[in-house]
Amino acid sequence: ALEALDLRHSFGALTVLHGVSLQVQPGEVVAVTGPSGSGKSTLLHLLGGLDVPDAGEVWWAGERADTLDTQARAVRRAGRVGLVFQHHYLLEDLSVLDNVLIPMRLAGQRDPARAHALLARVGLAGREAAFPGVLSGGERQRVAVARALASGPAVVLADEPTGSLDRANATTVAALLVALAREEGAGVLLVTHDDRLAGYADRVLHLLDGRFTDELPVYG
Ligand code: ATP
Ligand code: MG
Repeated sequence: ALEALDLRHSFGALTVLHGVSLQVQPGEVVAVTGPSGSGKSTLLHLLGGLDVPDAGEVWWAGERADTLDTQARAVRRAGRVGLVFQHHYLLEDLSVLDNVLIPMRLAGQRDPARAHALLARVGLAGREAAFPGVLSGGERQRVAVARALASGPAVVLADEPTGSLDRANATTVAALLVALAREEGAGVLLVTHDDRLAGYADRVLHLLDGRFTDELPVYG
């Protein structure tokens, strides 16, 4: 579903990623943990094509992503990669339903019945016409989960998706994200500080100083 090969990235003189490789298979849930500043969000941005690496390769469902131009990357991302962030990034001027339809529209799909079904699946049947501003934090993040799955992506990338929620809502949102992705056969890459969230993962990768620790060179 997703593959990264030897990603390297710097901001000015600061090298954040020193050569990171990973694979996420369809239906697999992989968590990435690591201290603040270790490069988790930078890695997610590169994997999602929101930024391009200084070196290395990103592949979405067998297609090279990092060499596409910005516009082509945005269109491909809409169809192949779902994104969930700590803060939901819903469009406040669009209804809940229209928010879920965004990635479909960008990917050239039109399937309102699927959008309704996804919203029902996250417990928001009947709230399609509401605007994000009237929803609770947990409800907004559930809309973000439905939106991330809307276009039938190969992989969902989530950066601290429950970081702004209380414990009960965090558990609900994490469970829904993982359950929906599994039902849809999508892989999930989950960046989290939260050990309970990492408990949903099939594998946990630790990022330290811009490398996965199991890939650290062994000296002596
Ligand atoms: P956290 O757990 O706090 O979210 P993180 O692991 O997600 O941390 P990143 O946001 O990837 O860390 O940042 C890694 C390093 O890169 C940090 O030192 C950060 O200050 C730096 N950095 C990130 N984005 C930029 C940018 N656009 N310009 C300059 N430096 C940046
Ligand atoms: Mg971060």
